[in-house]
Amino acid sequence: MRDPVTAYVALGANLGKPAQAVCDALVQIGELPETKVVRHSSLYRSAPVDSSGPDYVNAVAEIATRLDAVELLRQLQLIETAAGRERPYRNAPRTLDLDLLLYGGARIDSARLQVPHPRMGERAFVLVPLAEIAPGLVPPGQLDAVSGQGLTLLK
Ligand code: AMP
Repeated sequence: MRDPVTAYVALGANLGKPAQAVCDALVQIGELPETKVVRHSSLYRSAPVDSSGPDYVNAVAEIATRLDAVELLRQLQLIETAAGRERPYRNAPRTLDLDLLLYGGARIDSARLQVPHPRMGERAFVLVPLAEIAPGLVPPGQLDAVSGQGLTLLK
């Protein structure tokens, strides 16, 4: 059996009960086959970036998984769908968004999956929670660059 891979997943929601949706998704990620949540960040509140509607609730989870990256993405998308996620248009408000940020040291650039996530370095709502649980993965200069984006600790 393959060794587990350490991966990072960004969670975000801004419709319905977003904090509840993020907490539920953390539980569901931990229930995926061959996968456990090692740790997760606090919950944060952020104003929508390239999106609209109410503020987002965001968090990042570190997981250990034996799923390959494509299967992990597929499983994450099933959790999104079960949460009522619809995609009426690009960057529409969403009940739940799960992005695979990092999958071990893998670099993947296929039509379906890009890892590291191409926009993770630009977004405070990803970098701040990621730095909370894995400070070595986020250079301080990168955090400084996004410090102007409003992000507050939720709990
Ligand atoms: P979104 O609507 O923002 O959830 O984007 C989902 C789309 O992005 C899907 O078609 C995925 O196949 C694609 N995608 C590419 N790379 C990633 C990634 N690292 N994490 C999540 N979705 C990804």
